Amino acid sequence: SDLVRVANFGAGPSALPLSVLEEAQKGLIDFNGTGIGIAEISHRSKEFQAFVDQFEQNIRTQLDVPSTHRILFTQGGGTAQFSAVVLNLLARHRLLHPNATPEETTLDYVVTGSWSKKAAEEARRIAAGHGTVRTVVDARVYSKDGKSFDNIPPHAEFQFSPAPALIYYCENETVDGVEFAHDAASPASFPFDRLQPAGALVPLVADYSSSFMCRPIPRLADHAVIYAGAQKNIGPAGLTILIVREDCIVDVDTAAKLGATPVPLILSYKVLADSKSLYNTPSVFAIYVAGLVLERMKRHGGLAHYEAVNKRKAEKVYAAIEEGEQKGVFRRKVQQGSESWMNAVFEVLGEDAEKKFLEGAEKDGMKGLKGHRSVGGIRVSLYNAITEEEVDKLVAFMTQFIEDLKA
Ligand code: PLP
Repeated sequence: SDLVRVANFGAGPSALPLSVLEEAQKGLIDFNGTGIGIAEISHRSKEFQAFVDQFEQNIRTQLDVPSTHRILFTQGGGTAQFSAVVLNLLARHRLLHPNATPEETTLDYVVTGSWSKKAAEEARRIAAGHGTVRTVVDARVYSKDGKSFDNIPPHAEFQFSPAPALIYYCENETVDGVEFAHDAASPASFPFDRLQPAGALVPLVADYSSSFMCRPIPRLADHAVIYAGAQKNIGPAGLTILIVREDCIVDVDTAAKLGATPVPLILSYKVLADSKSLYNTPSVFAIYVAGLVLERMKRHGGLAHYEAVNKRKAEKVYAAIEEGEQKGVFRRKVQQGSESWMNAVFEVLGEDAEKKFLEGAEKDGMKGLKGHRSVGGIRVSLYNAITEEEVDKLVAFMTQFIEDLKA
């Protein structure tokens, strides 16, 4: 065929498996033998509802989501959840503590990068007059240059409030390439053991937008809310996935009568849960493609398989960055132990060298490697659809680039 697909290392929306796109092509014309295309069929048709049920089941099984947690689908991306999570958990807090003052109602934010910083800023807007946003820890304080997000701070620095309305962290910082380590023994892991009181229903929130479904989620059951946009690892933009513990699905109108901020119905977790995520028209097509991706993941052995592959991919890219650093061609940006599996960032040293790197990569059929506009440099996104062959090709290019620049 004359089909030419480049290796798309972009940060999102990002690559999807060709086999899924080919299947979706057929579904656009005829969804599961209905004679109606997926972009045309009613979201209330029994065929689509069965598809959504299967999709949800696939997430539950592969991520091992316990029965204490609901899986919900919505729209608006991570950005809508920056607001929704504050509104829903402030409502929950109001129901638990009807007389709490705004000063007593704390929202704890762990700031390890551009996205958690943005989430904390939105929380300040939304919670104004109702609660107090606290920065638990700001990773820039522990950075090499005193101003960059390049690390996960030491556990001892995570001083959580006694009974916060929520505790927030971003598992993988897509822009800065910083991620919590999944090995509990690592100093860069999330300090779950510092949450108090241990074993209680702590309102722990995690943004998994850029690391969802790339490997298992540590201590999933200890989270109140986990959310992720689909457009990195599992599908097109337009679908947001929520994993919400039952005690966080609260009647926002009762809370409003007690003085909490009114919550738009479309942002209410209870409205989503009560309607089985079909309160209004969902992003039918995005759900369909993500559902196909999840089916494919199951056939390939689920998260254990993806974890092993993603680990190898990341190790290869970081080894190439390391080699470039030793030869004075690249400079790593993230401190040892805090590197992201999904977004590897580095700088190319020397005048015009970055431009040369990007142009050379593009000439070889590799795109999407330019770092986020706010931080510059190179960013290699290694989401699930990036194959080991594509990584090998990139690493070969990096190695050659190092040789050429040295010469
Ligand atoms: N959180 C993280 C970690 C992200 O990477 C992004 C987008 O890249 C967002 C939130 C915002 O997501 P959205 O564009 O889906 O609103």
